[in-house]
Amino acid sequence: MSASHLEEPSATAAGKVWFVGAGPGDPDLMTLKGRDLVARAGAILYAGSLVAQAATQWAATDCVITDSRDMTLEQITAWLIAQAQRHAVVVRLQTGDPSLYGALIEMVQPLDAAGIAVEVVPGVSSAMAAMAAAVESLTLPEVTQTVILTRVEGRTSMPAGESLAELAQHHCTLCLYLSITLLKKIRSELLQAGWTDDAPVLVVQKASWPGEQKIIRGTLGDIRQRCIDADVNSQAMIVVSPTLGARHWPTLAKSKLYDAGFSHRFRRGNPMEHSLHD
Ligand code: SAH
Repeated sequence: MSASHLEEPSATAAGKVWFVGAGPGDPDLMTLKGRDLVARAGAILYAGSLVAQAATQWAATDCVITDSRDMTLEQITAWLIAQAQRHAVVVRLQTGDPSLYGALIEMVQPLDAAGIAVEVVPGVSSAMAAMAAAVESLTLPEVTQTVILTRVEGRTSMPAGESLAELAQHHCTLCLYLSITLLKKIRSELLQAGWTDDAPVLVVQKASWPGEQKIIRGTLGDIRQRCIDADVNSQAMIVVSPTLGARHWPTLAKSKLYDAGFSHRFRRGNPMEHSLHD
């Protein structure tokens, strides 16, 4: 495996801590860059609750591998700092993408204060994995061109202006993280925002996990009961979107990108076919 594009740390300097997106569960969905870092790491700290230990299968035999499941934030940062003093490459494996609900900045600040270099490698977020599992699209021409990644207020409060009732007024695609136990509240806030009980809803539990993924389809009115019936109450992505089910629509507005009359950087269209200047 080539790691030539990764910066070689000098032997004397303290190591670097890499926050690596492990992806949604299937180890094959980690980036090649992330996998190279796992292979080169002297120490790996992984978030045991969601990141499959399989993600560490490329680690060297003498790599120190620890599950952070029972650690506090202080213990996590102390561990990373201590390991960076011993190893050139230290990896913190995060579920999905590290920048989404990953406590990234809380971990980076103490590392900055300790003078430890930090880099982040992005990952496939669970919203994308859920849509892939269900063969659905987050955006569709003339339906919605906008996606909101959010969560519903539970123990963590939402900043002003970010209640679901407010965000849902756009009637765009909503990807709801960390909210599978709050389907009652989701329904009431979406009804307030003008959605109706027949709006399609998709829930994917353990998206991309080999052999464990569950796909539940329903409507705003019945998705809660369907999830209860299927015993889905954790590690699930909820998507509410006017795009859901489009695979079976008889008529579909097509993307301009592939329209025969639409020119773009890589393909010259035939202007006689359509005029698409808007
Ligand atoms: N950084 C992660 C999100 C962490 S918050 C990401 O980018 O995906 C944890 C929440 O992510 C869970 O409550 C769930 O809503 C979602 N999640 C993480 N992995 C998932 C998976 N494989 N399938 C469905 N949802 C998942």
